[in-house]
Amino acid sequence: MSFKVGIDPGLVNSGTGKSDTNSYELVIAGGGPAALSAAIYAARYGIRHVVIESWKPGGQAALTAEIENYPGFSSIVGSDLTNAMKKQALEAGAVFQTETVENTTEENGKILVRTDSAKYTTDYLIIATGAAPATLGVSGEEKYYGRGVSFCATCDAPFFRDKKAIVVGGGDSAVKEALHLTHVVSELGLVHRRDKLRAEPYLAKKLVEHEKVTTYWNSHLIEVTGDDQGVTGVILDTPDGKKQIDTDGVFLYVGTIPATEPFASLVELDKNKAVVTSGIVGTSNPRVFAAGDVTNNGFRQVVTAVSEGARASAAVFELLEN
Ligand code: NAP
Repeated sequence: MSFKVGIDPGLVNSGTGKSDTNSYELVIAGGGPAALSAAIYAARYGIRHVVIESWKPGGQAALTAEIENYPGFSSIVGSDLTNAMKKQALEAGAVFQTETVENTTEENGKILVRTDSAKYTTDYLIIATGAAPATLGVSGEEKYYGRGVSFCATCDAPFFRDKKAIVVGGGDSAVKEALHLTHVVSELGLVHRRDKLRAEPYLAKKLVEHEKVTTYWNSHLIEVTGDDQGVTGVILDTPDGKKQIDTDGVFLYVGTIPATEPFASLVELDKNKAVVTSGIVGTSNPRVFAAGDVTNNGFRQVVTAVSEGARASAAVFELLEN
């Protein structure tokens, strides 16, 4: 089992892509599979572009221990896959800047993108900023973040070798990361608010039947408890009443929140703050396209994110040609 996570040092951004005016035909915001795919296509189409990648390159896929459903690889470490995508984008001529988009506006038929260190003007924008983990908002969750509370088993599993951990959630992320944790922890509790997992059935069965796993169905985590050293336990609200469970780690996978705040004035968002799309990658703004987990497209997989990224760049190319 590999714990290798993060961007390959050979893939650091050159930072040489800015033109004097910072004016582009296309700005791609994001650094995950959707953005990287859009970058590969934009570069190959010869679109004058820049990819504004955040400080967490590779997006959520880079924080996934093993990806087993991306065609061509029966199993691949998430960061290996995103590093390969970035390498391919750089080889194709894609230009990256490591900055955070702070806000975007539209003026005189151009889109203005302001980051933490620069301003860009562009004809078209692809929003591919993905989504961030949601929180439960319970007592102790914030206090013990980084001291036992984690949103990334792939990153933090080595700290829990031969210790006890709890995973909360019933989706693909919870199940995949819980399976990853079974390789290192001594005991694993799975807490889910219903009695059925929404994750891919093959992996869900594998997890539930694992000898180290105890399931807490129809249960809610209501408090994370701890001391000066970090997490010591959790309090669950179960069908049999409140239960105190001893644990060293709490891994939360209770959904994601699309990273759309900087784009709120440009495109229509749904009630979950996802970009509302039409025709897969179109948005309410004809100069703006969206791809991957930031959209309301539903089926959120690496394979769909890369497809949407490619479609978005192809749509921009067609508009520029016309
Ligand atoms: P998700 O599918 O939205 O699952 C979130 C889980 O958290 C659900 O089981 C949900 O319960 C539970 N939950 C939500 N709010 C909660 C709350 N307040 N308290 C307790 N539990 C709560 O999120 P995800 O697992 O992060 O996946 C996001 C997307 O990425 C999905 O489309 C998923 O398929 C995809 N993904 C794919 C892979 C892959 O390799 N194929 C890996 C990871 C993620 P309910 O079930 O009751 O709603």
